[in-house]
Amino acid sequence: MESQKKFPKTFSFEFFPPSTPEGQEKLRATTRQLAQLKPKFFSVTFGAGGSTRERTLDTVLDIRLQGYSAAPHISCIASTTASVREMLHRYKDNGIRHLVALRGDLPSGLAATGEFRYANELVAFIRKEFGSHFHIEVAAYPEYHPQARSAQDDLLNFKRKIEAGADSAITQYFYNGDSYYHFVDECEAMGLDIPIVPGIMPIGKFSQLARFSDACGAEIPRWIRKKLEGYGDDTASIRSFGLDVVTALCDELLTNGAPGLHFYTLNQAGLTTTIWQRLGL
Ligand code: FAD
Repeated sequence: MESQKKFPKTFSFEFFPPSTPEGQEKLRATTRQLAQLKPKFFSVTFGAGGSTRERTLDTVLDIRLQGYSAAPHISCIASTTASVREMLHRYKDNGIRHLVALRGDLPSGLAATGEFRYANELVAFIRKEFGSHFHIEVAAYPEYHPQARSAQDDLLNFKRKIEAGADSAITQYFYNGDSYYHFVDECEAMGLDIPIVPGIMPIGKFSQLARFSDACGAEIPRWIRKKLEGYGDDTASIRSFGLDVVTALCDELLTNGAPGLHFYTLNQAGLTTTIWQRLGL
């Protein structure tokens, strides 16, 4: 963890682009509430294959109009170089200088046709075409990506993204701090010297969390799963227990030198704000 301690702490909040005018209005209120916590930036997800491209850009522009920094995500799976280039030009023309660059996931059953296979190719493409214009964040997986052939392979693939020009990384969420410390130590041993900011998923609904975790390979430790299952439909107890667990994790991560936190807010301000206040940030 030594190398992480020298980086300034960066706090950020992630949104997905709303699909209705009501969702948009609600997100404006969420943004206003979370902006009071003074994050460095908000980020807005991007549907793989470009399914949300307009809404991602519109949401980023809307956040900026409200006076806050925002970074769009961009994914490359099932995309042509021409479509990615065009998207990047639109980001640049709109004054955007900060991106989260990903491979993305296609809905199951769809084959990946496109000119990019992996995120390192997207990062290299952005650097080749746009030089140092963008600050590029990439994804990191302390519990390893579910499709990785091995842990070592996944680490080497992470390294490719840094060597291609990524400036910093945000992790998949996890509830076991040791996986993050170990991952960061392995990156340090490989000579990677960028901030790796932990991604934090507040716990609101167990069924939703279980579904996300099955899809992305993030482990819910058995004791947490058992407790959450035991609460059944008692959402107040789930939220209360979840707040205790996630606040303790964040506190431990920051104490041990993590260079900030990135919250997967799911467009809700409540849990993130409570964790923030309990941390005394
Ligand atoms: P990659 O880094 O390309 O890795 C994908 C897999 O391929 C890994 O198993 C890796 O080991 C392997 N691999 C990588 N490079 C190579 C190579 N050169 N040769 C062989 N194997 C290789 N998804 C979205 O669709 N939209 C979003 O907005 C979005 N935002 C995210 C934000 C964060 C912070 C995180 C952590 C994830 C996000 N995701 C998003 C999910 C992400 O797209 C998926 O996890 C996806 O499966 C992998 O994306 P990646 O960029 O990490 O891929």
